[in-house]
Amino acid sequence: MNNKFKTSTICIQGGWEPKKGEPRVLPIYQSTTFKYDTSEQMAKLFDLEEPGYFYTRLNNPTTDAVASKICALEGGVAGLLTASGQAATFFAVLNICESGDHIVSASTIYGGTYNLFSVTLAKMGIEVTFVDQDSTEEEIQKAFKPNTKVMFGETISNPGVQVLDIEKFSRIAHSNGVPLIVDNTFATPINCRPFEWGADIVTHSTTKYMDGHATSVGGAIIDSGNFDWNAYGEKFHGLTCPDPSYHGLTYTKAFGKAAYITKATVQLMRDLGSTQSPQNAFLLNLGLETLHLRMPRHCENALKVAKYLSNNPAVAWVNYPDLETDKYNALAKKYLPNGSCGVLSFGLKGGREASLKFIDNLKLTAIVTHVADARTSVLHPASHTHRQLTDEQLLAAGVAPDLIRFSTGIEDVDDIIDDIQQALDAK
Ligand SMILES: *Cc1c(COP(=O)(O)O)cnc(C)c1O
Repeated sequence: MNNKFKTSTICIQGGWEPKKGEPRVLPIYQSTTFKYDTSEQMAKLFDLEEPGYFYTRLNNPTTDAVASKICALEGGVAGLLTASGQAATFFAVLNICESGDHIVSASTIYGGTYNLFSVTLAKMGIEVTFVDQDSTEEEIQKAFKPNTKVMFGETISNPGVQVLDIEKFSRIAHSNGVPLIVDNTFATPINCRPFEWGADIVTHSTTKYMDGHATSVGGAIIDSGNFDWNAYGEKFHGLTCPDPSYHGLTYTKAFGKAAYITKATVQLMRDLGSTQSPQNAFLLNLGLETLHLRMPRHCENALKVAKYLSNNPAVAWVNYPDLETDKYNALAKKYLPNGSCGVLSFGLKGGREASLKFIDNLKLTAIVTHVADARTSVLHPASHTHRQLTDEQLLAAGVAPDLIRFSTGIEDVDDIIDDIQQALDAK
């Protein structure tokens, strides 16, 4: 159903097209394994000569259906689900990079991704250079090295809500002969489709708006199929040279535009096993069925909250890209014309102490390690998600010490604003 229908239709019907007598609703294939009639059929599967399911660690009909729905929403050619957003980012990079390679990443990214890149990938011999995404092309260019294999950024950064200039990043990436990976978690394909602006691969924490109800941790990787791996000799040799673990098969030759996702599935999932469970994929699919209805409401509520905060004398500053006065409003208008997301960040005049007191006084709004779901929630990144970072790293990640991350839900916005006001009054 790729690209044939409009977004809302894909949200509801994409990915699962039952044939005669099959369940109307995507079933949970709660099976580790799949049956074949002859040994030869099975052998062909293991040689990747025939498509099919053999073991749920690699893939499963339920997870595949949901991956293809997200793929259709993003306008990609192939996709896979992962056990978490972290696994999606990790696999998206590891599918291209190995020890000795280098990546260039925006510094204003999710704290977990920052740690993944700067600590865990470093231990594996993959080096990262963080750049200020708002710098000029010339400035960012300086971060590239001969062994750079990937460029990375977030459409809307968590928690700073900075908007990425995707076209600028893709120009820089492509002039250096590397793909651009964009984490599109906060925008979702309802509000932005990074492939239309030159991104090559998109990742998601489906845990957030896509699930939307805070029930299931998960992730997704979607490939646009646009990056020409073969154009750079052996630079991307994992994709363009024979894989000895499949009798010398070459992914780009055997699978064309599906090479990247096929390699991630049959090599990384096979060896590292971080697939999403069919049960979680089923719940994710229910969330996706209303994504196109929820996102506009999140944006509408968040804009009202942002305007209310901007006019409140207790508030020192507010970041929300849809505010006309926001530093990122021009980029938001270009990349996110229908609204950005439900998340905003702000600080109170009393600084860090006042921010913490305010959070403790909220009643309807809950303090949770979560963001971007139906229920309004709040977090103080410097004390919570980003507490491993030094002050210097915090600033580089766009996290001021007093920053309150406010995730506007889809309740009645008057109740959300009343809650904020009573918490400000209660000091
Ligand atoms: C939450 C989040 C992640 C990590 O996803 P998990 O599902 O928690 O592993 C990655 N990127 C962004 C932008 C996120 O908000």
